Amino acid sequence: MKRRLIAGNWKLNGSLAFNAALVAELRAGLQAAAPACRVAVCVPAPYLAQVGGLLAGSPIDLGAQDVSSQASGAFTGEVSAAMLRDFGVRYAIVGHSERRQYHGESDAVVAEKVRQSLAGGVTPIVCVGETLAQREAGQTEGVVKRQLAAVIHANGHCISEIVVAYEPVWAIGTGRTATPEQAQQVHALLRAQLKAATERAPAMTILYGGSMNAANAANLLSQPDIDGGLIGGASLKAPDFLAIIAAASRDGA
Ligand code: PEP
Repeated sequence: MKRRLIAGNWKLNGSLAFNAALVAELRAGLQAAAPACRVAVCVPAPYLAQVGGLLAGSPIDLGAQDVSSQASGAFTGEVSAAMLRDFGVRYAIVGHSERRQYHGESDAVVAEKVRQSLAGGVTPIVCVGETLAQREAGQTEGVVKRQLAAVIHANGHCISEIVVAYEPVWAIGTGRTATPEQAQQVHALLRAQLKAATERAPAMTILYGGSMNAANAANLLSQPDIDGGLIGGASLKAPDFLAIIAAASRDGA
């Protein structure tokens, strides 16, 4: 049976001291109540080694927040999937809306990053989602389908190895969450699109992200095509993140 996945996205937050305290609290919480779901934290690149060490022997996997579209060479500042793998990284967020918006990442670049990630043995968590203006213009379906189609096209049969995250841009960091019904509607569309590409689509993981918190997690996770969450702000507070993990560990996990 498919186990849900709860992945934290620490974004540009943390310090050696903050990370050590947060991971210690998470480890203690998960020792008291073992998770029935998969758990990961996606940390800033400089802290991968530190957090990897802190997570050793715990049920929490290590994740990165980005990966290069290149394997090696003259690409200053980039970090390849193979380098991530060297540090025990299991997941890499790819195509987060903040990278699309502030770093100009196109669908083509995102698709190439997914390809490199898979080639390097790191599972990409591929983010798709519409802006508020696009939703209000009735373009949600077209936008998310276009974003996912680019990734499917570039990755062929390997597509079954990715994790998808539906993250409506208007819900990220705003405290404004998609209703479970709104989220499920898009997740069902994405699942159908994956089904046309791979027979393994029913077993694939599709996360919801956008102001998921301890109070709304259970309702969102009750939807048939929501297989977990990508959590920003609430992943920086151990009690909140643990509460989301507990919700994901209940029935159907
Ligand atoms: C995110 O950054 O992927 C995210 C979902 O953030 P938040 O939970 O803070 O909305």
